[in-house]
Amino acid sequence: MKHEEILKKLRDAGDYVSGQELCEYYGVSRTSVWKAIKQLEKDGYVIEAHNNRGYKLVEADDTEVFSKIEIESCMDTKWIGRKLVFRKETGSTNLDAKELAEKGEKSGALVVADMQTAGRGRRGRGWESPAGKDIYMTLMLRPECRPEKASALTLVMGIAVAEAVCEVVSQPCKIKWPNDIVINNKKICGILTEMSAEPDMIHYVVTGVGINVNQTEFAPGIKDHATSLILEKGEKVNRSKLVARVMHYFEKNYQVFEESWDLRKLKEKYNALLINYGQEVRVLDPKEPYDGIAHGINEKGELIVERKSDGQTMLVYAGEVSVRGVYGYAV
Ligand code: ATP
Repeated sequence: MKHEEILKKLRDAGDYVSGQELCEYYGVSRTSVWKAIKQLEKDGYVIEAHNNRGYKLVEADDTEVFSKIEIESCMDTKWIGRKLVFRKETGSTNLDAKELAEKGEKSGALVVADMQTAGRGRRGRGWESPAGKDIYMTLMLRPECRPEKASALTLVMGIAVAEAVCEVVSQPCKIKWPNDIVINNKKICGILTEMSAEPDMIHYVVTGVGINVNQTEFAPGIKDHATSLILEKGEKVNRSKLVARVMHYFEKNYQVFEESWDLRKLKEKYNALLINYGQEVRVLDPKEPYDGIAHGINEKGELIVERKSDGQTMLVYAGEVSVRGVYGYAV
């Protein structure tokens, strides 16, 4: 039986519900009810069990509970994230979303996990994904545009995450081109977009988002440039609400994006969030790194950089390179 159903019953009752009543209502055994209760406790719900009276939902520490029903109850979108798959643990939400797409799932499906065992970043790098603290989610879309337009979706998602995080932590949150979200010059989010397409047709695109929410310690290799919302805000953040806010902003931005299938109408918003705007950057071009001044993005999402050595305007394409601040990670 689904523990979501028991939760709904306990919520609606607002008082004790006997085990017997739950068994009869759902036509299941006492053991099934007990297992469902244990699952809810694992999800972070606090349930009081009383010998004669049954079970009562006492309280839900809303920063602890991260589950399908919690996320769904916060969601206010029309179609983005309305099909939601929640995994307590998975390899990678990008792989899960690809699987959904291959099985024919509709555009807008969202996979959210509490933990990833093989979280991935760009160019084969890893994404640290411990349990019970952060957000790992992947949105699957079937945009009706040419494949070369799809990489801009990473930037559309970047705007949405920045908007949602700014709202939640009430402090400046910026984008390091193309898709890292930073607070105080440190990274709180990475975004990885992957696509399955033919030369002139997209089958699907998956955009994965990892947000450091309630994590307080990072591995030695990343701790110098990683931070989390709890570290920046000083208090725990509700992950279910944050997932829903990201989807809220994404749906709005995507609607604008699909009018022209480029960033012409989102460019201004993106550039206002861009930490590198007007700043000196180091472009880690695999052929030859160079320094220059970043002048924001164009409608394709390329970073416009005025090269320091000869004043030439360079268009930096996200696929190949990383950009760093000249003094630190972002600026
Ligand atoms: P950059 O351009 O800064 O090199 P990227 O966009 O190429 O970053 P991503 O794909 O966003 O990289 O993320 C992968 C990198 O992020 C890893 O190489 C690792 O250094 C770092 N990293 C891994 N896990 C986390 C985490 N939880 N928080 C912050 N940074 C992380």
